[in-house]
Amino acid sequence: MSTYPNESEMARRIGENEARFRDANEKIEDAALRLQPDMNTLPFVCECGRPDCFAPLRLTVAEYELARQSATFFVCLPGHQLIGKDLGREVDIRDRFVIVEKLGSAGAVAEARDPRQQEAEKTG
Ligand SMILES: [Zn+2]
Repeated sequence: MSTYPNESEMARRIGENEARFRDANEKIEDAALRLQPDMNTLPFVCECGRPDCFAPLRLTVAEYELARQSATFFVCLPGHQLIGKDLGREVDIRDRFVIVEKLGSAGAVAEARDPRQQEAEKTG
């Protein structure tokens, strides 16, 4: 992580990555619910925010929805969670996934980029 000029810049970029993968997962859920609403688990992607992580993450829709309860929540593989005062804290640790609440500047990016919040603003 020494390529980042400072810690808050690092946290901001991690937040951007997480938001990007969350956008991808929202599209996966939409498409899957349209095509195969009875599927048991869906192939989501890890939202840990590491620039080199493209790990698949199989979740049920109900599990995925746990992570969409808040604009600052992200879901990732166990062991991929980035924890720290300007990064995040674990809110739910399961066998197959971990839900992380983003804090500090990573949390601010997460909230600003939440696709569900933007949708709510558009429709009122
Ligand atoms: Zn990951």
